[in-house]
Amino acid sequence: MNKTVLITGASKGIGATMAIRFAEKGYNVVMNYNNSVQAALILHKSLCENGYSVMAFKANVRNRLDVDLMVKETLYKFGSIDILINNAGIASQGLLTDVSEQDWNDIIDVNLNGVFNCSQAVLPHMIEKKSGKIINISSMWGQVGASCEVPYSTAKAGVIGFTKALAKEVGPSGITVNCIAPGLIETGMNQALSIEDVTALVDDTPIGRIGNTHDVASAALYLASDDADFITGQVLGVNGGYVI
Ligand code: NAP
Repeated sequence: MNKTVLITGASKGIGATMAIRFAEKGYNVVMNYNNSVQAALILHKSLCENGYSVMAFKANVRNRLDVDLMVKETLYKFGSIDILINNAGIASQGLLTDVSEQDWNDIIDVNLNGVFNCSQAVLPHMIEKKSGKIINISSMWGQVGASCEVPYSTAKAGVIGFTKALAKEVGPSGITVNCIAPGLIETGMNQALSIEDVTALVDDTPIGRIGNTHDVASAALYLASDDADFITGQVLGVNGGYVI
């Protein structure tokens, strides 16, 4: 039977590419989305027309009821969740002195509490079948911190701590938990960056370019595969050498 992957934030950017790449590999794919309804439904339609096994589900990862329903529907349709990819995320830039309480809570809620909600909702099923893989999408800013992105860096550092702790806790249940820490990846999330900012980042990147969504999807495919069965609690940098 085909394995099932649940990818949060799969309407665009990295998550959308992961949905395509996992579908092409033969996984049943559950693509979660929240606001980008049209983009998600267009991608879902195109994957279905190509004969792939895909379900799209609107759920706000901040909302536990939404998440529980998404997990329930996934299990009803596909019977299993073998891989959970906690990818949904938001970012914003600004001096910490200008960050409102609302902005702080939004960033922590989506990027960190969303990981908690989805992982906790899926884990009873994985523990029961004594197998599963959780892949969290952090950021290199969670490793080294970014000026003017304190809330985002905090949330992404939290995701790394969550990954390491949970890996120890659920390893005995046959579940691996790993983390990908991408560098600058060409998606809508970075559209506010100036050409000067991007050029400076490229100049400091040994591989000499910014990343693309396939760079991250390839890493996720590896961590989801049987080849990664003995890898857990790790942070895989996909950053062209910017952070080593
Ligand atoms: P993106 O193009 O802006 O996509 C973000 C995705 O997250 C969208 O599909 C969005 O869905 C979803 N999302 C946001 N809030 C959500 C919520 N409350 N519930 C469910 N889904 C939600 O960004 P991206 O660059 O692909 O980012 C994907 C992940 O990679 C994020 O965790 C991000 O922090 C991380 N990352 C990105 C970079 C980069 O340079 N791009 C670098 C390091 C890490 P809707 O639009 O449907 O709401």
